[in-house]
Formats: sequence, C-alpha cells, structure tokens
Amino acid sequence: MDFQLTEEQRAFQDAVRGIAERHLAADNLARAHKSNYPFDVAKLFSKHGMMGITIPEEDGGQGGTLMDAVLAIEQVALVCPRSADVIQSGSFGPLRTFAEYASKNQKNRYLDKLLKGQMIIALGMTEADAGSAVTDLTTTAQPDGEGFRVTGGKVFTSNSPDADLFLVYVRFGKGIDGIGSVLMDRNMVGFTLGQPSQYMNGEDWCALYFDDVYIPPENILLGPGGFKKQISGFNAERIGNAARSLAVGEFAYNLAREHTVTRKQFGRPLCEFQGIQWKFADMKIQIEAGRLLLYRAAVNADRGLPSAEDTSIAKAFCNKAGFDICNEAMQVMGGTGYSQESLVEYCFRKSRGWQIAGGSTEMMKNRIAEIVFERRFSQRPRKVPSS
Ligand SMILES: Cc1cc2nc3c(=O)[nH]c(=O)nc-3n(C[C@H](O)[C@H](O)[C@H](O)COP(=O)(O)OP(=O)(O)OC[C@H]3O[C@@H](n4cnc5c(N)ncnc54)[C@H](O)[C@@H]3O)c2cc1C
Repeated sequence: MDFQLTEEQRAFQDAVRGIAERHLAADNLARAHKSNYPFDVAKLFSKHGMMGITIPEEDGGQGGTLMDAVLAIEQVALVCPRSADVIQSGSFGPLRTFAEYASKNQKNRYLDKLLKGQMIIALGMTEADAGSAVTDLTTTAQPDGEGFRVTGGKVFTSNSPDADLFLVYVRFGKGIDGIGSVLMDRNMVGFTLGQPSQYMNGEDWCALYFDDVYIPPENILLGPGGFKKQISGFNAERIGNAARSLAVGEFAYNLAREHTVTRKQFGRPLCEFQGIQWKFADMKIQIEAGRLLLYRAAVNADRGLPSAEDTSIAKAFCNKAGFDICNEAMQVMGGTGYSQESLVEYCFRKSRGWQIAGGSTEMMKNRIAEIVFERRFSQRPRKVPSS
C-alpha cells in the first residue's frame, strides 16, 4: 500500500491548481454569490481538458480515472469553491451516468456540446413524494407507438434553470424493475419548468412538470430494469459530492488558519490560544481521515464506477466532516466568518446541503448498517397478515 500520489498525479494536481489560481481566484467571492450555472468556467475547463475527465477519449473525454477527477475537483474547490460544481457537472454528475449508458446516437447528439461547456445536463430524480424513498417515484412512461408519453413531475433538480437536457427517472412499469430513465430536451412539447426557488446555498432550482411529453425511442437512456445501473452511475455523483464537501471544508480551514495567525486579541495572535489550536487539530484530523476514505473509493473504482460500500462510507464521513470544519472555521473567524464578505459563510451554507443531497447522511448510514450486518433492512412498514 502506497499513500503517496504518483508523479503524474502530482503534476496533474499542480496543473489544475495553476489554472484555477490564474483564472478563478480573483473572482471566487463574486462567483459564489451568483445563482446561475457558471458557463464561462465550463468553457474555460473545456479549453484546458478539465471536462469529461472520467469519460473515454473515444467519446471526447480525457480518458482519466475517478481519482484524477477527485484530484481536479479538490484543487478547483481549494481556489474557487463554486467552480468545483463545474468539475462535478463535467465528470461526476448526470453527465457521467449519461456517458456510461448512452447509445452511440445519443452520445453523438449531446456529448460534444456538454463537454465543450455549451450545455448542461440536469438530473430529475426526486419527486414531491419520493425523496429518500426514490423508488416510490410516480412519473410514468406509457407506450405510444415506438416511443413513450411521460407524465409527472420532479423537484429539487439542481441547475434546472440553465439546463437544456434532463436525465429523468421514470416508471415504465410496477416495482423497482419498472424504473428506467429518459433524456428530455428542454423544448419538448408538454415539458415546463416552474418559477425558480432558491436553496440555502444560493443556487436556483425549478420544479419540472411533464404533461404527456412524447419521448421518441432514441431518447430512452435505460429502459425498464435500468434502476440499478442508474444508482451505480449515481455513486460517481456521490463521490464528487463527498469530495466537494471535504474540499470546501479545507478551503474554509485555510482561510481560518490565516485569520488566526494574523488576528490579535488580548495582545496575542488567536493561534496562540489552546482553545483555538485544538479546533485546528480536530479539523486537520477530519481532513486527513476524510481524504483517505475518499481516495480509497476513487482508487478502487479506477476507470469504473465506485462501489456502494466505499461510496456510502466516504460520503457519510466527508459530508459531516466538511460541514463541521466550515462551522468551526466560522467560529474561529468570529463576525468576519459569519459575514458575506468571507467565503467561509458560503462554504458553510454549501456544505450543509450535501448532507441532504445525493442520498442523505441517514440513508448512507442505512446502507452502511446493511454492510455491517450483512443483510437488507427494509425501510418500509411490515406487512400485517390479513386475518
Ligand atoms: C442542494 C441539493 C441539491 C439537490 N439536487 C438534486 C438534483 O439535482 N436532482 C434531484 O433529483 N434531486 C436533488 N436533490 C434532492 C435530494 O436528492 C433529496 O432532497 C434527498 O434525496 C432527500 O429527499 P427529501 O428532501 O424528500 O427528504 P425526505 O426523504 O423526506 O427525508 C427527510 C429526512 O428524513 C430522513 N429519512 C428519510 N427516510 C429515512 C430512513 N429510512 N431512515 C432514516 N432517516 C430517513 C432523511 O435522511 C432526511 O433527514 C437535491 C437536494 C439538495 C438539498
């Protein structure tokens, strides 16, 4: 076992860091306070080979590993936390699931624009009555000629105000095996978006409404029985989510460290108070431990998708660690940390959401408990035998 990055990985890390420092550092605060998707950053990353890091070269990607994508998302987040969302969209999110399962025809139609940062794909999975219990989704796809008619709706779709393409989980039939997914263009007849609402992190999302939307056969991504594949693809999204949590935590930690070295109270720098030092020791332990779990999940996946076991452990730990670190960083920065002039308050708001998004911490722990006890625990009410 080797805990060191390879020379190639270190060089990649440095290159990404350099690009982020040169192009993103100066505006990192302003970017964090904009609600829309930063297409300018996506185009910049495309120019520098930072989109589609995990997507094969023959599909127009960089042919890298999940670990490469984790290194990139970390280095960007450590300079500009908001821009790390673009690495997420370009290498971890629904784009990754799309690239994994799309047909040649589907890739030809969409992938080039997605990888050039000209277009973004959003994920429509959650419904008003199907959040953690995602398999309760009721958006239906009914056969119509060679295609399907989709009726239903979605909530909390990140990037929905800016997306032109949506990967939508639908129900073709009963049960888990009836679930699959379709690709929905924003301009399809019967597809409308509600008024934008805002998350605590400042980003907008819209409810999606599907009123008998015709989906031609060439827009089916995964037919009935596709649910397990969709969730495997979603595990990559969860790794990006975990990586950003930890990295925005480290970003806040770096700002707080700098602050406590320079800020004086009672005639001494804050870092000379033991009460402050111990907070930093705890933060450092969380960063190091989280990084090991994260890197393990990524390295084990190599060019494939991460396992549910590695992912759930890394996500549960990094989401909590990232948020706790932001919280402590804010505390040691006092009023400065709580103010919008500092990115620490943004990192705090941002990292809070990841304990809910992408499978909540509780759902990750439910999965871990199944690993511990080597059995499945249904979350549904027991069926009472009829007398
Ligand atoms: C910032 C952000 C971005 C998001 N982006 C997207 C997106 O792009 N696309 C998309 O489809 N969705 C997205 N979501 C939605 C997200 O996936 C859901 O919010 C999440 O799955 C939880 O569902 P819910 O909000 O309905 O909460 P609920 O499922 O109602 O859960 C409420 C609480 O109960 C807990 N709980 C539920 N069931 C159990 C159980 N069995 N055991 C223990 N605890 C349980 C949960 O952990 C949670 O704390 C996003 C959410 C956020 C916050």
